Parts: sequence; structure tokens; C-alpha cells
Amino acid sequence: MKKNTLLIGGRRIRPGERTQVYLDIPALFDNAPMNISLEVIRGLEPGPVLFVSAAIHGDELNGTEACHRLIKSPQMKNIKGTVIIAPILNIYGFNNKSRYLPDRRDLNRCFPGNPTGSLGSRLADIVMKEIVVHCTHVIDIHTGSLHRTNIPQIRANFQGKGAKVMKELARSFGAPVMVHSNVRDGSFREAVLQQGVPMLLFEGGEAMRFEEPIIKSIVRGVHSTMRALGMLAPAKLDTQKDCLFAHKMSWIRAPHSGIFLLKKKLGSVVKEGELVARIKGPLGENLADVHTPYDGVIIGATLIPQVMAGEGLINIGLFEDIDVLEEHLENFEF
Ligand SMILES: [Zn+2]
Repeated sequence: MKKNTLLIGGRRIRPGERTQVYLDIPALFDNAPMNISLEVIRGLEPGPVLFVSAAIHGDELNGTEACHRLIKSPQMKNIKGTVIIAPILNIYGFNNKSRYLPDRRDLNRCFPGNPTGSLGSRLADIVMKEIVVHCTHVIDIHTGSLHRTNIPQIRANFQGKGAKVMKELARSFGAPVMVHSNVRDGSFREAVLQQGVPMLLFEGGEAMRFEEPIIKSIVRGVHSTMRALGMLAPAKLDTQKDCLFAHKMSWIRAPHSGIFLLKKKLGSVVKEGELVARIKGPLGENLADVHTPYDGVIIGATLIPQVMAGEGLINIGLFEDIDVLEEHLENFEF
């Protein structure tokens, strides 16, 4: 724990206190006040400071419902340390049912931000200076982008320096798969990691939906990570499942424009050369067979049947050891 006094949005929150904080952010054209709503929960005993955020992409909503359930969960009544929950980080995009900000920028490319920069840059600056500055850990919740879906997965940097810490943290969340992903310039993850704060990025389901299995896996995962961090009492029964790490993910792209039919389920284990999809013409005639060039697991896919040549169809997670995957994935629901 960095400090005993927690000051967010000009509000002082003391140990043992629980409150809502509304962070002022720039207004829109009508000048009506805009803010980011936060639930701040401080235990009496010191401990880690965990930030759980959702909807940095304003249309990615599974995390929003999961945050609502976390706020209400009885576990939050007796914690060590502090939890800060932001169910809707990008309130502008959320109000527009859009991934983006009103100026069409991606908030997740505006970090670490600048108080005199673009709207997104100002918002990012507020998030970093008001919230992340206090944190020891961050979990940011995403879904697939519009009309694309993902099986529940943690994306983080599992290679090089700090990989061990990240793997342990990811393991504690207990998602079916963990996928190594390099940080992107301007992303929230890059800015958080630059502060020396470990961050898990969760991906699961699709945009604009509430999907029960995904929401449940987020709530379970956050509680489980909190237990691993000592913020909650250990579980009576250790139900933590093993988890598997993909060293890479890669999109299989449409070899031909046409009508896409997925021949495998999400979460399927596939072997190099296996038929995974077909592209058909208007009369149902076969235009192209799509085979996977790798061994791996289908961790994401497009949900729209109409596809153009070159479009990403299926996202494959590449694992070192695929022989154990099938049995492992049978333990999960998605
Ligand atoms: Zn996202």
C-alpha cells in the first residue's frame, strides 16, 4: 500500500470507508456535467490497491455488469486493502453505444494522456493521476470488438522481464486461456506498466451484449485474484483450475470474399491443416476451404457471415503443448 490517505477527485477516503466518487471530466456540447462513476471500498487493514475497470471501449459491456455484481458482492464487505471499481470508464462512448470517443478516437490509444490534449488524452490523464497513481494492481475488462467474440482469456506480457509476476497474477484469475500479447503504443496497459503496476487485461464475449457465462467468469476471476493478493480470505476449497499460456495469437484471414461458415466451435483445439471454415457463394457453392496453418485453440472469431478477402475470420491461440488442451478446456463454459 502506497499511502494511508486516499484522495480521489478531491474526496478523502479513510480506511474502513466505502463511498462513491464522481470524477469530473470534460463536458459535451450542452455543457452538462460529465463524470466517471467510481465505487471505492477501503478495508480497515492495509493491503493492495486494486483498480477494476470496464468499458474503456464504450460498447464492451460484459465488464460493466460484472463490475455491478462485484460492487454488490458480499465479499467486498470484508477486504484488506482497497478496491476501486469503474464500471464505465469511457462514458462518452457508452452513451453513444460506441467503442470510440465522440471525436472518433480510441481512448485505449490516448494514454498516458495530457491535461491540455484531445478529449481522450484529457480523460486518460485524469484516470492516471486520480486513480492509477494509488494502485498496486489493475484489471481492465474488455470484450471482442463489434461482431467479434472471444472465449474468456487474459492477455498480458508473459515474456521477458516481469513475466513470472504476470503469470502468477494471471493464473490467480483462472481464465481458460492466457495469451501473450505485446503492449500497444498509447494503450492503458502500456501506461499502467510504465508506472511499474502489473495489469491483467481480460477479454471475453462480444460487444453490446450481456453474456452470463462471461460475466460470471469475470466476477469469479476478480474474487480469485483478490484472494491470491491476500485482499480476501483464502477459499475453503481450492477450486482454482490450471491454466495454459499461449505464446502468440494469430488471425486466419479470409482467402476469398463471400459467406463465411465456421466449422468449429469457439474454444476448439485444432491441428495444422484441419478444415476450420468454408467461404461460400450466393447459391451455397463452395468458394474456398479454410484450413488452419497452426496447431492451437480457436480463441476468437467474427460473427458476421459476410466477409471480404483478407478479413480476420478466426483468432488462433498458439500453445507449446496442445495435447493437454482439450481436456483442460472441457472444464470451462463459454
Ligand atoms: Zn476493448
